[in-house]
Amino acid sequence: MAKINSVKTTIDGYEFDSLTEGEFYKHLKSRNDVLKIDVHPSFVLMNAFQISCGRCTGGCVKSPKTGKQIKCKRCGGKGLITRQPWTYTPDFRVIWKKGSPSYFDVKGGFKDAKFNYVKKMFEYRYCRELLVVKQVKGEWKYM
Ligand SMILES: [Zn+2]
Repeated sequence: MAKINSVKTTIDGYEFDSLTEGEFYKHLKSRNDVLKIDVHPSFVLMNAFQISCGRCTGGCVKSPKTGKQIKCKRCGGKGLITRQPWTYTPDFRVIWKKGSPSYFDVKGGFKDAKFNYVKKMFEYRYCRELLVVKQVKGEWKYM
């Protein structure tokens, strides 16, 4: 699928993936109720975890050549595999002068299917709505 509005832009040293994202940053900066804008803050949706290796028993496999027990190559003989954490980087976290912070993702054209899972997991983990905004005729609207 072709990317829409995917021109990168740099403002205040921050690189934004789209002009729309940069426009939203400028919009946030122009507001007088904003205390702090965090650009691209990172959040862990799922911690790293370990699973038992599915290709061996306790780190050992039978050698096809000799028939002897040898170290499993997949897990290095540990019997365990580590899965990396799942992280998500929303476009902005806004700390307001009053009230709880808001989390924003700016959508220029389309949302990919994966985004709905990311949004749900973020909200489950952080108990706060992830706001998705888009620009319609010069106004910022929630999707
Ligand atoms: Zn293994």
